Amino acid sequence: MQRLSEEIKGNIHRVKERIAQAALRAGREPEEIKLVAVSKSFGLEHIRAAIAAGIHILGENKVQEAHQKIPLIESGVSWHMVGHLQSNKAKRAAELFDTIHSIDRLSIAEKLNRHLAALSKRMEVLIQVDLAGEETKFGISEGELEELVRRVGEMENLTLKGLMIMPPFFSNPEDVRPYFQRLRQLLNQLNCKEVVPAELKELSMGMSHDFEVAIEEGATMVRVGTAIFGPREE
Ligand SMILES: *Cc1c(COP(=O)(O)O)cnc(C)c1O
Repeated sequence: MQRLSEEIKGNIHRVKERIAQAALRAGREPEEIKLVAVSKSFGLEHIRAAIAAGIHILGENKVQEAHQKIPLIESGVSWHMVGHLQSNKAKRAAELFDTIHSIDRLSIAEKLNRHLAALSKRMEVLIQVDLAGEETKFGISEGELEELVRRVGEMENLTLKGLMIMPPFFSNPEDVRPYFQRLRQLLNQLNCKEVVPAELKELSMGMSHDFEVAIEEGATMVRVGTAIFGPREE
């Protein structure tokens, strides 16, 4: 227990240090970057250790799993859904989460919006973009993005904050850089065209092995699991 806490605390310290270094290299303020600790597959002990070490935002990728953990964790932290959201889980997701990174189609946005209205709750969301056109990846294509942004922007109970990407895996993080650059360009274009009235500010990009590159390219949220909690047993 003690050892686990110390280990997680050390990991978080190192990740924050690397975030700060990457930000400074890019001429950015480290405080601009939110660290989302992705706790999927880890239990309450790990989550509590991360919170004790200063984590305020936790990420999960499955509604079912999140439902078993979130109610047991004391309040004061923000929960982000980072994984693909199935239609039949929209209601529960509306109840559980504070932010959803993975809006990838109109139908799921409409469902969420309806359930949130019934709960009198507003939720911040990001739209997940698929730039690789891989069939196994979720996300809206570049060509359909603007229309989805416009529609989500009109929904009463959703507050659209920006874009998210989960690029293909490359062993060399440098190979992911063009995806991060492109996502930032898309965000800029949406803002220039004023597709939605309020400026879109958030770019959720970068995971354990590539968050530094993502920060250099403008990430405002990095989603880090392994580098904080260790390898997952899958
Ligand atoms: C698991 C997961 C992460 C974190 O991945 P690590 O490589 O463990 O840092 C980030 N984003 C999403 C969507 C994930 O599913």
